[in-house]
Amino acid sequence: MSNYNIDTKCVQAGYTPKNGEPRQIPIVQSTTFKYDTSEDMGKLFDLEASGYFYTRLQNPTNDHVAAKIAELEGGVAAMLTSSGQAANFFALFNICECGSHIVSSASIYGGTFNLIAVTMAKMGIEVTFVSPDCTEEELNAAFKDNTRAVFGETIANPALTVLDIEKFAKAAHAHGVPLIVDNTFPTPVNCRPIEWGADIVTHSTTKYMDGHGAAVGGAIVDSGNFDWMAHADKFPGLTTPDESYHGIVYAEKFGKEGAFITKCTAQLMRDLGCIQSPQHAFILNLGLESLHVRMPKHVENGQAVAEFLSKHPKVKKVTYPGLPTDKYYEIAQKYLPNGGCGVVSFEIEGGRAGAESFMKKLKLAAIETHVADARTCCLNPATSTHRQMTDEQLEAAGIPAGLVRMSCGLENKEDLIADIEQALA
Ligand SMILES: *Cc1c(COP(=O)(O)O)cnc(C)c1O
Repeated sequence: MSNYNIDTKCVQAGYTPKNGEPRQIPIVQSTTFKYDTSEDMGKLFDLEASGYFYTRLQNPTNDHVAAKIAELEGGVAAMLTSSGQAANFFALFNICECGSHIVSSASIYGGTFNLIAVTMAKMGIEVTFVSPDCTEEELNAAFKDNTRAVFGETIANPALTVLDIEKFAKAAHAHGVPLIVDNTFPTPVNCRPIEWGADIVTHSTTKYMDGHGAAVGGAIVDSGNFDWMAHADKFPGLTTPDESYHGIVYAEKFGKEGAFITKCTAQLMRDLGCIQSPQHAFILNLGLESLHVRMPKHVENGQAVAEFLSKHPKVKKVTYPGLPTDKYYEIAQKYLPNGGCGVVSFEIEGGRAGAESFMKKLKLAAIETHVADARTCCLNPATSTHRQMTDEQLEAAGIPAGLVRMSCGLENKEDLIADIEQALA
């Protein structure tokens, strides 16, 4: 499949039925798998043979869908997780342990920020947050001897900052560690971070990949490019024997291509168990089959709404990397030449009350804690996710009280604009 265009991969990669087999990916709704002899099963436990034994570790439905996502991102191996949160945690924890340090862009999803800054800190993993706009010198200064990974989001949720992937990859590699990029918002249809030097790519498949607000899920993709053995002292989990797996050295046995995902599955999925259900994987795949058709429409609607809002007298400011006036326009032209996504954020006159009454009057756009759905939805952080903060605190955090985040769906753009226009009026 690797020679085909991304459109074809969205539809067909990951699963090729043999003669007489189901055309659609079968949902293997089974927790377990049957073997004729204990020896047969023993080989699987020893990672001597590949196959299935328990769905917490692997399931054929999940593997087909993960293989498709690996192809879409241009990676060599992938796995599904139960959520985007699990994907980011597993990707980091697969190479970090108590005493490790992470360099992360400060402009990331709130859930991931908490994961790294609070929960992983309790595990003894430190973080230094850097501005996505930092200079190379500032970025390099954030590294320590115990730094094990660099993290960022291609387009950050909800700030809509665009990551200079090459800059972050260069710094990571100069310090002998991988760059992990959360590519949820653009999806591989609009950006493939591995082509710009990222080593590991993560997803909340809950968003555009599923695209219909139907199934929470996540994915991790390995580029197969990072040479763990060349930095063996930094990554003992991959380069020294795993006593919980009969002394396997993942990077020796599975090479650059297989080590990361195999360890993540064999160890973290075994012990922490955040597997995606095969039903969800099937639903996710239905979304992937039309991802290349949906993303341009999300972008078209986001761009049209952003342009309309930027000319409206009741709108103070619009943030959308596709607007020539946006701070990230130039960098978006480089990494996202076909556009980024359908999420637009804007500040309207009248603060909290203004945003609240505007949103109440919307007929098509629903108030939801969600983005990247086929249906347009919106959220005012000041009255929802950040409602414990005062107007002054919000302003200081760069989230003015009148800020609205709108995720443009797949409806007709004129209908969306008319709805916004009447609500603003
Ligand atoms: C939503 C989101 C997550 C978390 O994903 P869940 O599937 O909700 O766990 C992580 N990263 C980004 C960029 C997101 O938008």
